[in-house]
Amino acid sequence: MTDLRIAIVGFGKIARDQHVGAIAAVPGATLAAVASRNASLPELPHFATIEELLEKGPVIDAVSLCTPPQVRRAQAAAALKAGKHVMLEKPPGIGVAELDPLIAMAAEAKRTLFATWHSRHAPAVDPARQWLAGRRITSVHIDWKEDVRVWHPGQGWIWEPGGLGVFDPGINALSILTRILPQPLFLTAAELSFPANREAPIAARLSLTDSEGVPIAAEFDFRQTGPQSWDIVVDTDRGPLTLSGGGARLAAGGEVLVEAADAEYRGLYRRFVELAATGTSDVDLMPLRLVADAFLLGRRKIVESFED
Ligand code: NAP
Repeated sequence: MTDLRIAIVGFGKIARDQHVGAIAAVPGATLAAVASRNASLPELPHFATIEELLEKGPVIDAVSLCTPPQVRRAQAAAALKAGKHVMLEKPPGIGVAELDPLIAMAAEAKRTLFATWHSRHAPAVDPARQWLAGRRITSVHIDWKEDVRVWHPGQGWIWEPGGLGVFDPGINALSILTRILPQPLFLTAAELSFPANREAPIAARLSLTDSEGVPIAAEFDFRQTGPQSWDIVVDTDRGPLTLSGGGARLAAGGEVLVEAADAEYRGLYRRFVELAATGTSDVDLMPLRLVADAFLLGRRKIVESFED
């Protein structure tokens, strides 16, 4: 079988930090080109836009869209129209409904549309799901608090409509939560804190539940300095489970069950290669739906202006 020849579109922080290394490490995947207005890799064909890539570029099978969410739908549509498999960084869109035509296009063209949730590939996530299966869950608390100046320096798009603000990392917590809990979840209340000078929230408090009425509280904050928190604590009838470090570490039943290095993006590309082999799509919109509901239902609080 020949390698899946992939072009990265949008060569920014995450493309550099994760995608290039993951593609190099995964058998069956090859990085074949880069399309980005201001960035390139010396040894690879470079194009300023996806249109130029698709028109004049080398033969590729797939694109990996690492651009901000506001521009990804049009890029995904162009790539599917050109017969390419498409991998979407998270969040998969700026709204839920914009995914529907892409899903239909991919099915029609027998090409893969893969909406990635990198945090679900963290090493402790599947073990947490297994540990929770069969136990009675009594409550859940999430703290997802990080320093936006460290993790998203100068990323103006994150504060624009569709950039999601603190939900850009917060949706990772929701992607894990919806993977490890056995029941479907829904939102019951939210409070969103918007800086006076920005179009997206800098902090959020969410209340969720499931059909059993389990109380689930989530606190997201972009203003955290010092130690960062990416933790989920699930209380059960047989003691608490703690998933920390964004899904890198699992403690339950009084012992540490998993503590492993990050290999999330390798997991994503292994899955992409597998999906593309049969042109199958994988698009789970549940984390995005919960975020959309938070914007629908959330009380809005105006807080101190934020400057980068
Ligand atoms: P970023 O550093 O801003 O990189 C995105 C790149 O896309 C930019 O460098 C830019 O490259 C290109 N781009 C920006 N605006 C564009 C536009 N209007 N049209 C076309 N291209 C545009 O952002 P990032 O942190 O890599 O995040 C990208 C996506 O990955 C986001 O959805 C984010 O949630 C996700 N992600 C980020 C992280 C993280 O730690 N940063 C982790 C996981 C997932 P050119 O100027 O060269 O075109």
